Amino acid sequence: MKIWFLTGSQGLYGEATLRQVAEQSRRIASALADGLNPDGAGGPQAGPRGAGPSVEVEWRPVLTDAAAIRRACLEANADDDCLGLIAWMHTFSPAKMWIAGLDALRKPLLHLHTQANVELPWDSIDMDFMNLNQAAHGDREFGHIQSRLGVPRKTVAGHVSDPAVVARVAAWARAAAGRAELATLKVARFGDNMRDVAVTEGDKVEAQLRFGVSVNTYGVTELADAVHATSDAEVTALVKEYAEGYRVAPELLPGGERHESLRYAARIELGLRGFLDAGGFRAFTTNFEDLGALRQLPGIAVQRLMADGYGFGGEGDWKTSVLLRTLKRMSEGLPGGTSFMEDYTYHLVPGEELILGAHMLEVCPSIAAATPSCEIHPLSIGNREDPVRLVFDAEPGPAVVVGLADLGDRFRLVANEIDVVPPPHPLPRLPVARAVWRPRPDLRTSAESWLIAGAPHHTVLSASVGVEELTDLADMLGVELLVIDAATTTRRFAAELRWNQAYHRLAQGL
Ligand code: MN
Repeated sequence: MKIWFLTGSQGLYGEATLRQVAEQSRRIASALADGLNPDGAGGPQAGPRGAGPSVEVEWRPVLTDAAAIRRACLEANADDDCLGLIAWMHTFSPAKMWIAGLDALRKPLLHLHTQANVELPWDSIDMDFMNLNQAAHGDREFGHIQSRLGVPRKTVAGHVSDPAVVARVAAWARAAAGRAELATLKVARFGDNMRDVAVTEGDKVEAQLRFGVSVNTYGVTELADAVHATSDAEVTALVKEYAEGYRVAPELLPGGERHESLRYAARIELGLRGFLDAGGFRAFTTNFEDLGALRQLPGIAVQRLMADGYGFGGEGDWKTSVLLRTLKRMSEGLPGGTSFMEDYTYHLVPGEELILGAHMLEVCPSIAAATPSCEIHPLSIGNREDPVRLVFDAEPGPAVVVGLADLGDRFRLVANEIDVVPPPHPLPRLPVARAVWRPRPDLRTSAESWLIAGAPHHTVLSASVGVEELTDLADMLGVELLVIDAATTTRRFAAELRWNQAYHRLAQGL
């Protein structure tokens, strides 16, 4: 995938100056590309936090008139490989030239307010230099027309040699990758939502219009047929993979008295993966109330599919599944994992407050602190055979939990910055994967804010992407985002909810 680098100028300067503009803007684009892809454009990269999402920066010829600008924007719209545009006014580019193009633009835009040089050449500066290096006012002209037209964009100021500048562009590029993923995402729902649950419902037509994602239901019978059609040889190979990758309980290993349960769990993974891949689905949901002929609730299968990047939501929760797939795409190449999560229960001792998050089974091993153990235990709900699952504690460190709710007239994202901590005590009798965290600024403020925002109990926990990426994504999608962080107070948050209510209703028009 690519990001286009556009440079604005005008014909007035003459050929010689425009050649210099082109040469210098190529250098800026190239420095930015190096910053975004420390290991080479498009290649695999596992750089430090702030590194780019493995995108190419494609330098485009300098734009000097309205027709070329409009043409560039229309071409960006039409190019599925183009994630978004970065625009920089190296010289003055009279902004009425940009009206038609910006009005037509449907791709994410980043306004990079930079310049070729870092230091002013105090001794040698003359009017030629001044004529060439005018971003300080050229970009102000560009900012004006974007605000006048109401163009959604991210504005980043600073030199591209500054890692903080590159990190802000990288966050935007990751969000743009998430947006592109959403635009083509297909979600398979096996069964409907859990009966009577409100927050997992939502408007799938509105979701397709706003996000692009297509969400459809498939009978669990189709899935069960695929599961039961898998071959014994495939199952044996996958069981071997489990034995090599996890600490598998002896009773589940070949020769163990419950080995058949592990084989059946592997069969579910093979059938589920095959079904998803055959249909081009990168996200799915299950519902323990609707398992048809499946003998176990999918546990390890869901966990391993999440680890491979598939979105998932329990109890038919397609919105959280969509969000998980999006954040998985945005976090590619970054350290730290991203998982389906549910706020489960609290430690409320004053001064030590913690949240224990988990699910019936389905927590992604990408957030595991150590090699998961593969175990089998009874499940008190669902009326099926005991399911096989991976059990682990989450890796400690900063993270974010984010939820997506449908308020009836719009979608709302709510994010809470958290610190995942080691469980203060072992949890020997808890047979599911879990994360223990301290929400910022504190449990009381976090929980009160989350509740008055009407945010869901299902979330995505990510130790890879953070509030900046989520903010950029929300802006690109035109979706409300509320952030609960170290600076949040309940009173201020409640006021923000009221302001947002008015703003988002006005912004949608009548
Ligand atoms: Mn749940």
